[in-house]
Amino acid sequence: MNRSELEKRVEELNNLLHTYGRAYYMLDNPVVTDKVYDEHMQELLSIEAENPDLIYPDSPSQRVGGEVLAGFGKVVHAYPMLSLSNAFNAEDLREFDRRVQTAVGDVSYICELKIDGLAISLRYLDGKFVQGSTRGDGTIGEDITANLKTIRTIPLRLNESSTIEVRGEAYMPKKSFVDLNAARDEAGEEPFANPRNAAAGSLRQLNPKMAASRNLAIFVYGIGGDGSAYGQDRHSDSLDHLGVLGFETNKERQRCATIEEVIDYIEKWTKKRSNLNYEIDGIVVKVDRFEEQEQLGFTAKSPKWAIAYKFPAEEVMTKLLAIELSV
Ligand code: NAD
Repeated sequence: MNRSELEKRVEELNNLLHTYGRAYYMLDNPVVTDKVYDEHMQELLSIEAENPDLIYPDSPSQRVGGEVLAGFGKVVHAYPMLSLSNAFNAEDLREFDRRVQTAVGDVSYICELKIDGLAISLRYLDGKFVQGSTRGDGTIGEDITANLKTIRTIPLRLNESSTIEVRGEAYMPKKSFVDLNAARDEAGEEPFANPRNAAAGSLRQLNPKMAASRNLAIFVYGIGGDGSAYGQDRHSDSLDHLGVLGFETNKERQRCATIEEVIDYIEKWTKKRSNLNYEIDGIVVKVDRFEEQEQLGFTAKSPKWAIAYKFPAEEVMTKLLAIELSV
């Protein structure tokens, strides 16, 4: 591509990704599959890497999530809620491992299932649940406390009187999703495209009774800010501690001593994922020790100590297929 073709393509990709992002993050109603979104994003990222002058300040590559919907109160996150950089194959993971090793030497990793739901933040004051919010644009989220209180696996009171902000993924179990779409079909309503959109749509209802009727659940996957402030040295230990406090954490997590062990874990879950009663869209790999996480630091958009491996697309959403083919 010559320069003017490149400029044109970058503008095109910016516009497309902006449109897709708005439909996905703000309206909970995607117009293309994640595969199409990810391919466009990878194309934009690779052009931007070669031509940094074509990175616009409002490029979707520079932003986390969506904007905050009107109708909800705004919550400024005490610690930003970031995105994760992506890996699509074993080589991307080995490359991530090389970058980590160059920066901090040998590390151990923790692998977690990447639950396909909605990122939320929960604030506790002296052990009592006081506020819950969406990720929003990463800095400011929507106050959805009333809706989150309807999720039975969110403790309203912790087992210790901690003041803590935790992060997790709210999701809709597969069975609840199937039942909900059957009921919507019967009522002549549009079905949800997938459990993720159903969960996000349910939590961004202004009427908490609606959220209460949707059988949502949550897995907590971390602490906002400095995890070591609560006495643990490793993320894996802090997940155990979150369990002691009364949170539901995902039990399929595994510590891995090498990136090859990480790749084995991913292969195992690529085969087993359909047996789970909730949807996952990948595996999140994190450097386990907080000290090493701190040394690695962050980019503007994501931590340098974690990466999300994305599964190849499994299901085809017929509603989206026609659009995908025409893009
Ligand atoms: P991401 O999917 O790249 O990863 C970050 C998120 O992972 C976190 O915010 C958190 O919610 C979640 N997560 C789940 N389990 C976790 C765990 N154990 N530890 C840490 N985080 C965990 O998030 P993003 O920045 O929202 O994503 C972009 C992705 O969303 C794209 O790659 C694409 O697949 C999808 N997307 C699709 C469309 C579309 O139109 N289809 C549009 C925008 C985005």
